[in-house]
Amino acid sequence: MSSTDGRYDVVVLGVGGMGSAATYHLARRGLDVLGLERYDVPNAMGSSHGVTRIIRRAYYEHPSYIPLIERAYDLWDELEARTGRDLLHRTGSIDAGPPDSDVFSGSRRSCEEYDIPHEVLTSGELTERFPGYRLPDEYVALYQPDGGFLVPEQCIVAHVEAAHAEGAEVRARERVVDWEATADGGVCVRTDKGEYGADGMVIATGAWTAEFVDELSGIAVPERQVLAWLQPTAPDRFAPESFPVWNFRVPEGRFYGFPVYDVPGFKLGKYHHREETVDPESWNREPDAEDERLLRRFAERYFPDGAGPTMRLATCTFTNTPDNDFVLDTLPDHPQVAVGAGFSGHGFKFASVVGEILADLAVVGETDHPIERFRLERFG
Ligand SMILES: Cc1cc2nc3c(=O)[nH]c(=O)nc-3n(C[C@H](O)[C@H](O)[C@H](O)COP(=O)(O)OP(=O)(O)OC[C@H]3O[C@@H](n4cnc5c(N)ncnc54)[C@H](O)[C@@H]3O)c2cc1C
Repeated sequence: MSSTDGRYDVVVLGVGGMGSAATYHLARRGLDVLGLERYDVPNAMGSSHGVTRIIRRAYYEHPSYIPLIERAYDLWDELEARTGRDLLHRTGSIDAGPPDSDVFSGSRRSCEEYDIPHEVLTSGELTERFPGYRLPDEYVALYQPDGGFLVPEQCIVAHVEAAHAEGAEVRARERVVDWEATADGGVCVRTDKGEYGADGMVIATGAWTAEFVDELSGIAVPERQVLAWLQPTAPDRFAPESFPVWNFRVPEGRFYGFPVYDVPGFKLGKYHHREETVDPESWNREPDAEDERLLRRFAERYFPDGAGPTMRLATCTFTNTPDNDFVLDTLPDHPQVAVGAGFSGHGFKFASVVGEILADLAVVGETDHPIERFRLERFG
């Protein structure tokens, strides 16, 4: 049901990766929900564009993400079935580097701890099985067959379609200007077009979150990222059937990539690309020659059959926390306000479950999901 009197059960600020999921999960509980998005649904202004996002069970960042990823997979499958959209492509995933590297050893630790099926391959075995890859001889790789990629713009559309079907109202091209807590324990949200009251609120404004949450000023920090799509010279080696998504730890840094999908090139990026923190309102969205050089040099060394002419370059923002872990919590002085932020370049795969968590937090102030690691209080 949509509200007729300008008052809602819950207002969601930002209808990107996380906000679209929260809007859906709130609406499916029968609540009056309003989602407000300053750009389009979906858009290429924040963090959830660029055709593909890796999803993987092998989680080198920390094993505490594993219970969440299990639920995220289930919810993506459910959303696909419900909307009939193709959202999740299973290609398998490779996490590789020197044997003692964070990427390889962390992935192995999480697979062993949670009994996740996996294989360890030498560099030679990796190239024999997936000929696009060329790693130094002493490197090792962990292969996990459930890894793959999501199609982020389609995921947002699917969440909004499903939210609409449950009666949610979503308004694009309406920018939230500010909000305040009201004496009745609710919130008042002001936009460039009007004012709305609600009992609860979800803040999911990505790179802009510090604008609305003082506690996250200097904590959730936007960073410029660049993606490249290069035409493979041996295309059959970079097709989804023969080329798992990957994460590598190499002397040049931590890189990741995807098979050819929807753009005539294989896609790669470097975590924390050139370490440029930015103001989300004004930053250089245009990729330049140095961005391209950095990614091409890497591809030429580790994917020599993939480093043909450039097909596309794009920029995007990470929003990093000091420990690269997410923020999922209610605000200390406002228990009716839930925030999902600081996804530090690895959040999209969790969007489906984050939507469920944010709905729990906004409605009842707590969740059964294990989110202790993601509380605001860790920043003091
Ligand atoms: C290059 C790149 C590669 C990545 N690769 C992966 C990957 O492989 N796997 C993975 O899991 N994750 C990956 N990530 C991370 C993941 O994409 C992000 O964690 C995720 O998209 C964050 O979603 P979000 O909802 O927080 O932000 P967004 O999707 O940007 O949503 C925030 C929304 O809020 C809106 N908004 C902001 N201010 C206002 C306002 N005042 N009023 C109304 N609306 C507002 C914005 O317009 C935006 O639509 C990657 C990120 C980047 C940039």
